[in-house]
Amino acid sequence: MHLTVITGPMFAGKTTELIRRLKRYQYAGKKVILFKPTIDVRSPEGRVKSHDGKEMEAIEVSSSSEIAEYMEKVEDISAVGIDEVQFLDDDIVEVIKDLVFRGYDVFVSGLDMDFMGRPFGVMPYLLAIADDVYKLKAVCVVCGADATHSFKKKRDSLIIEVGGADIYEPRCLRCWYEGIKEQEGTQLLDES
Ligand code: ADP
Ligand code: MG
Ligand code: ZN
Repeated sequence: MHLTVITGPMFAGKTTELIRRLKRYQYAGKKVILFKPTIDVRSPEGRVKSHDGKEMEAIEVSSSSEIAEYMEKVEDISAVGIDEVQFLDDDIVEVIKDLVFRGYDVFVSGLDMDFMGRPFGVMPYLLAIADDVYKLKAVCVVCGADATHSFKKKRDSLIIEVGGADIYEPRCLRCWYEGIKEQEGTQLLDES
């Protein structure tokens, strides 16, 4: 009956918080189900893993319709989680609304912005319809302030490139903007 959206940049603790929320249902003896897009290749198959090692079983899906189909087959589930929801197609909004309407508590986590600071995929819609929004912050790797942005360390135009600390780092707005300005003078890697 309730949609909670957990958002923020990379390393903000989104996956950790998502797992924590779902585990609370399990402690109460309730069943939960966690989905993740197949595109997220960082975690072991069939599991969601946070950067600080928290893990939970997950079902891999390549589209929002797979979530809808899967939910037709299950029983006694109280809460549904989706990690990295920004990677799913636009129809996920309708799928989530339907699940909430049918009585499930739905928890999703996803990046609010891509590495260029633009709203990411369906996230703006989910943030708008959520009952609760948690906007978490990481720690800026440059200056130690609260980090709201994900900075891509190499300069190319790929919006969806799945990776961890090798490709992205959390930065505050000031350090993110300075990084973008520094990169502006350099050639795009995928245009060379
Ligand atoms: P997200 O899903 O938002 O990417 P995770 O829940 O997977 O985040 O990981 C959060 C964890 O990442 C933190 O608890 C911390 O242990 C670790 N971490 C590593 N670098 C940083 C950083 N610069 N800022 C905050 N947390 C960091
Ligand atoms: Mg995560
Ligand atoms: Zn900073």
